[in-house]
Amino acid sequence: MKVVLKNLTKRFPNRNKKIHEDVIAVNDFSFEIPDGQLIGLLGPSGCGKSTTLNMISGLEKPTSGRIFFGDDDVTEVPAENRGVGLVFQNYALYPHLTVRNNILFPLQNLKGENRLSKEVMNQKAEEAAKMVQISEYMDRKPSELSGGQQQRVAIARALVKMPRILLLDEPLSNLDARLRLQTREELRRIQRETGITTVFVTHDQEEAMSISDMIVVMKDGILQQIGKPQEVYDHPVNLFVAKFLGTPAINVFAGSVRDGKLYMGDDAVMDVPGVADRDVHVGIRPEAFIPDENGPFKARLSRIEVMGRDTSVLSEHPAFEGRTIRSIIDSDDEVKTKDGYVLFSLKPNKVHIFDKETELVIEREAQ
Ligand code: ADP
Ligand code: MG
Repeated sequence: MKVVLKNLTKRFPNRNKKIHEDVIAVNDFSFEIPDGQLIGLLGPSGCGKSTTLNMISGLEKPTSGRIFFGDDDVTEVPAENRGVGLVFQNYALYPHLTVRNNILFPLQNLKGENRLSKEVMNQKAEEAAKMVQISEYMDRKPSELSGGQQQRVAIARALVKMPRILLLDEPLSNLDARLRLQTREELRRIQRETGITTVFVTHDQEEAMSISDMIVVMKDGILQQIGKPQEVYDHPVNLFVAKFLGTPAINVFAGSVRDGKLYMGDDAVMDVPGVADRDVHVGIRPEAFIPDENGPFKARLSRIEVMGRDTSVLSEHPAFEGRTIRSIIDSDDEVKTKDGYVLFSLKPNKVHIFDKETELVIEREAQ
């Protein structure tokens, strides 16, 4: 099922009574989710992810804008008639019901002609449980399960009605690191198997990047960029997106363009033909640095951390806008130092420049 959001806006009265201005949680948000894809809705806490999801599910009514499932305008359709499956961060299972009865619950609530026979309901519950691999726990209560198992029950409960759309709001945030990894792979598998169009909300860029067909990056209720994870990582449209994606984070420096050269301090570090003179932010990915005795980029070495496969070189530079520059180099490469400095050349496609004021990316000619 394709989902189309058209100019969605949601205003709330401010929770802080002293502020009379509305909060614009979602601001003129438009995008189209192709049928059968898994979309990662990504952004910092408070940027409007849950509000967007809640408007898709029908739990919140948009202030303006329309929502379509396929060709149907569902903007006015109540949540229970939209055919969406929901999973939240805090599992929200019924504690007094067994796993089986938690999964059966949405089916038992079907009314009239949609009502299923007992056998069919049980069969569907078994299938959903099997899909998330909790069949052996059907007679337990939620309190007798681990967090990861509880979240699987919640997913089974969302899947049992074979929803047209699956909406997941930070579903892995309460799990420990190992389970989070495992469950996200599981989610991906289930999504592939069922082909259900899925929106996965998270503030964790790595999580979104790893399982999504496309990511949608939001900030302050406003859509920043949509694309395949790698595309967005390689071609961020603005400084915010560049900083939000990637661990370790991109290194940002104050720089300027003069006569087709990019300067950081007094050092020309790269040719940027065709770019007009101006002040810029220079974003350099950690993997952009190549140790090079004759390299144009010179930084004072702080520390070298060896981490098996890679080596992390920590350094300082007067134009750096953060604290410590992090560069990741192959552990086979030797870090050459001279009088306490390291020298690097830079991979041009891993360096992004942004206008100092607008923070929008400055396109350059390919080199
Ligand atoms: P996210 O899920 O990305 O953390 P939310 O969608 O929950 O963000 O919230 C977006 C903004 O809207 C926040 O500033 C939040 O405080 C505000 N907000 C959300 N729900 C309400 C509400 N019911 N009343 C007032 N403000 C709200
Ligand atoms: Mg939220």
